[in-house]
Amino acid sequence: MQAAEFLAVAKQHFHGDDLKRITDAVEFATMAHQGQQRKSGQPYETHVFATAAKLVELGMDVDTVVAGIVHDVPEDTTYTLADVEQLFGPTVAHLVGGVTKLGKLKYRGLERYVENLRRMFVAMAEDVRVMIIKFADRLHNLETLGALPPEKQLRIARESMEIFAPLAHRLGIGEIKGQLEDLAFPYVYPVEYAWVRGLVGPRYEALDRIVDEMKIAITRGLTEAKITTMSIHGRRKHLYSLYEKLIRPEYNRDIQRITDLVALRIVVQNVTDCYAVVGLVHQLWKPVPQRFKDYIAQPKPNGYRSLHTTVFGPHGQPVEIQVRDQQMHEEAEYGVAAHWHYNESGKPQTGARVTEKVAWARQLAEWKHELANDEQYLEALKIDALQKRIFCFTPTGDVIDLPEHATPIDFAYHVHSDLGTTCVGARVNDKLTALDTELRSGDVVEILTDKNRKLPNRDWLEMAKTQTARGHIRKALREAGIESPT
Ligand code: MN
Repeated sequence: MQAAEFLAVAKQHFHGDDLKRITDAVEFATMAHQGQQRKSGQPYETHVFATAAKLVELGMDVDTVVAGIVHDVPEDTTYTLADVEQLFGPTVAHLVGGVTKLGKLKYRGLERYVENLRRMFVAMAEDVRVMIIKFADRLHNLETLGALPPEKQLRIARESMEIFAPLAHRLGIGEIKGQLEDLAFPYVYPVEYAWVRGLVGPRYEALDRIVDEMKIAITRGLTEAKITTMSIHGRRKHLYSLYEKLIRPEYNRDIQRITDLVALRIVVQNVTDCYAVVGLVHQLWKPVPQRFKDYIAQPKPNGYRSLHTTVFGPHGQPVEIQVRDQQMHEEAEYGVAAHWHYNESGKPQTGARVTEKVAWARQLAEWKHELANDEQYLEALKIDALQKRIFCFTPTGDVIDLPEHATPIDFAYHVHSDLGTTCVGARVNDKLTALDTELRSGDVVEILTDKNRKLPNRDWLEMAKTQTARGHIRKALREAGIESPT
């Protein structure tokens, strides 16, 4: 991406002093990277502008965008972090420093690799914006992966899928997760990629036409009903998530069974309008029975809110419609990143909630010295941070977020370490259940306790799947002078 093209994007979102800082950064980066080339033969600065443009699209604040523009300066040019600080201030320098410290996550033996991962969690816990810059950087590197030798392509693509995408997911940034996976997909699973592409190609065109037709009818209806629409657009399902769905047993690799290949997404101003839109849609086309889902009245366990319905479209084929307000939309697409979006007073809405949302990252970074070796640590990271998550409930309705395969022991320790220690049994969905039972999303878990109990059971180390639970158990046993297997 050229400087002019990037500035055109930036101008749509920034003005006045903010825009001036961005323009200055563009000039500085152009000068600093002068004469350098990417492997693709493109001038180096095209990479930093592409990275920064993604940050603008994510709605990030001006400091993050400026940091994106100069993110490769200390590592790849003769200018230093001190120069960056002098020109663009301490916040930008802090962000760029964070990105530089992460280094290029190269695989140079397990020890280095694990250390790099640990640093990533530390950086993320300190300021999650560092990680968001890293995501934008990685997205552009994936877009230009074709210029690298095949072994490198595979390594970077794999790592994007196994580490970066799950982290983006964990941070709730669905849009980045989807893009990372889709860009890595052809390199990691070339055969499967070709298969899915072949399946969707002709369908997309037909579906896009239908969705366009529906969009016109709905827009007309909304105008008549005087409902203000923030946006209305067709969204194609991300290719990799479609692949994951297709190979699930209930879909049996049959594309005909997938009804959300293209969905029509309507964003309106408030909750009342959301319901009005669904009413209007159901007047235009017949709803498919049992497919209306009210995730506003009953959000998904991960907090997702929207109204979903499927209707028989203009030519009789089922089309999914998703309706939400602006805030629901931002939370669903941008997760943690949405906290930097400007609110009505023109200030980013950062604060305590962000810190809370990445507390797990700090904890993971700290577990490092609890574990005997790097292999164990990597294993723990993969399970606690990168595995698919399930969401269970306490009897009072609080959501506890756990990795897949977690047990009631994990649940107890995630609620509170004391609850773990005094645990004597568990009731899952009102049924007494063994402590090593695998929990599933949506389970209501009640931990039965005995207040006189002072120590965890040694066998629990086997039953617990998370590092959080195991760490607490080990620590308690150690303090009581009981040897525990590491
Ligand atoms: Mn870079």
